[in-house]
Amino acid sequence: MKHLKHSQIAHLDRALEARGRELREEIRQLLLQSDQQHHRDLAGMVGDMGDESVANMLADLDAAFIDRHVHELREIEAARGRLVAGSYGICVDCRDGIDVKRLEAYPTTVRCARCATVHEKTHAHEGTPTL
Ligand SMILES: [Zn+2]
Repeated sequence: MKHLKHSQIAHLDRALEARGRELREEIRQLLLQSDQQHHRDLAGMVGDMGDESVANMLADLDAAFIDRHVHELREIEAARGRLVAGSYGICVDCRDGIDVKRLEAYPTTVRCARCATVHEKTHAHEGTPTL
């Protein structure tokens, strides 16, 4: 991720962290609204756990109403892992640097705009955002 400045990386990391917090809060609210006591019990734990632990715990739960949130939480966790590993912002398909504007709009993206378009054509059901 040589094409990213240190300040840009720090900014993206903060954006990912903030989105993770937001998602955990949304998950907590959804669990609290559930009819099942088990879900409401879990709601109390979500706020205190890390993104990855929450995602793992909720994946076991297999509850469709929070699937989308859990999926996004995993993407955030993976993106932050790539930041630490130094592979963040590199397109998984062509290995080029992903445009920083695209990263700021979609901090969890793993593809540059060009490869994302190709990928969407071949995997139309996934609905990844384009920029
Ligand atoms: Zn690419």
